Amino acid sequence: MSRCTAILAAMSASPATVSVELVLLVAAHNEEAALPALHPRLLAVADSLGPGVRLLYVDDGSRDGTWAMLEGFQRASPQRVGALKLSRNFGKELALTAGLDHVPPGAGVVILDADGQDPPELVPAMMARWRAGAEVVFGRRTERQGEPWLKRATAAAFYRVINALSDTPIPRDTGDFRLLGPRAVDALRGLRERQRFMKGLFAWVGFRAEAFDYERAPRLAGDSKFNYWRLWNLALEGITGFSTVPLRAATYVGLASALLAFVGGLWVIARTLLWGDPVAGWPSLMVAVSFLGGLQLMALGIIGEYLGRLYLEA
Ligand code: UDP
Ligand code: MG
Repeated sequence: MSRCTAILAAMSASPATVSVELVLLVAAHNEEAALPALHPRLLAVADSLGPGVRLLYVDDGSRDGTWAMLEGFQRASPQRVGALKLSRNFGKELALTAGLDHVPPGAGVVILDADGQDPPELVPAMMARWRAGAEVVFGRRTERQGEPWLKRATAAAFYRVINALSDTPIPRDTGDFRLLGPRAVDALRGLRERQRFMKGLFAWVGFRAEAFDYERAPRLAGDSKFNYWRLWNLALEGITGFSTVPLRAATYVGLASALLAFVGGLWVIARTLLWGDPVAGWPSLMVAVSFLGGLQLMALGIIGEYLGRLYLEA
């Protein structure tokens, strides 16, 4: 922890000379294979943009040589590079959050993947759009090179489902590669939920956003850290985090069954009155059971509605 503070101190010690204007934020989990190729490119971009541009790496609990490598980068350019080490693997969403928390006030952020899939060479163009007035510039993938068709198909299906269910429109084919202006960073910092779906939060904070089309490059080295199980969990996070439609669905199923139960109960009463009671006790039992069942489901539905509201407020 003390090392971490020291590194950050080094990063924030420089504002006396040059204030930080933009932070290139990279979350890395076991990326020792890709980082040696990416780091020089990031440095070159930062150098071309001036001394106000910094690099901030977040090591998300890597078990390989990633942290040692990041420390090396930091030692080599202490004015330019900062590094944070999370105590374990918290997942990319929380790693990015930790990074955003350490961005100096007033600075913008560009979020990039550690595997080179988001080309750092595009940052100057994104910055130009930011200077022209956009608070958020998000990358939109025109091509997903080196991704299997199943991943592309499931991604397309996910965007369709979440945009049908959620009130916050989430742009499709958009990853975390984006530039956030200082106001957007501030707004994001105010959102402290532990279960996070960053793409949704990015969209939720609003501001003037511009899409930026780019070709997503294949991974420089190493394997994807997101298998289908993790992607499925991320999708659930997104849907439950940005929609109460599933909860609503329970309400409507409950109401429908309650109605059916009442109608069934009435039918049993009518039949008994018209044609008598062939099995003694059955009609009264049926009416009681369906009436109580219907009541319970309706009450559950009402609780579901309130829970939905409570959830949105929390
Ligand atoms: N990542 C992370 N923590 C994790 C998993 C991934 O910080 O638990 C980082 C990873 O190092 C990379 C980015 O998130 O910089 C995207 O991961 P990956 O390239 O594996 O995902 P994909 O591009 O295949 O969706
Ligand atoms: Mg990747």
